[in-house]
Amino acid sequence: MDELEALHQEVRGCTRCPLARGRTLAVPGEGPRSARVMFVGEAPGFHEDRQGRPFVGAAGNFLNELLASIGLKREEVYITNIIKCRPPGNRDPYMDEIEACSPYLDRQVELINPKVIVTLGRYSLAHWLPNAKISQVHGKPIRVGSRVIFPMYHPAAALHQPALKRTVEEDFRKLGAFLAGALKAEEEEPPEEPRQLSLF
Ligand code: URA
Repeated sequence: MDELEALHQEVRGCTRCPLARGRTLAVPGEGPRSARVMFVGEAPGFHEDRQGRPFVGAAGNFLNELLASIGLKREEVYITNIIKCRPPGNRDPYMDEIEACSPYLDRQVELINPKVIVTLGRYSLAHWLPNAKISQVHGKPIRVGSRVIFPMYHPAAALHQPALKRTVEEDFRKLGAFLAGALKAEEEEPPEEPRQLSLF
């Protein structure tokens, strides 16, 4: 079995935290191992818990639209969450749940080795940039080690707030432009430093 699939299987059987008892299915993530861009949300919701797949409910439909708006196919990116099991009533994740689960995310990042990680929401942002404020950094590429973190507001939050929805749509346009520049430049000649970066 391929290493990523083995990791997915491990997540499906995980009992590292109490969320395992309340879940229908764990949601490891999905997408090709060769993905250059990885999207990391917060936690599975009702539909994700039922289907064992990330972003398949209302927020997922919006994410699909956003991806399509910048010419990205869902099948070419990797999508996962900070925690892999649904918290009861979709409450925010607890610190101990995040700590128990984040080794899975770190292994996903190691195996996939994406160039760009798009964080969806503040919990995801905090995994890489614990001191960053989403209101200040959204829509801006930030270099962290060998990767670029591209913070976004969470699409679920944007669904209910028209102004935030426009911001997320605008930030996706910026992501599209950034990817077009950064990934193309890399294909032509690997740059020493990714371009257009706001160093945090
Ligand atoms: N919201 C998330 O953060 N992740 C999902 O998979 C679905 C909704």
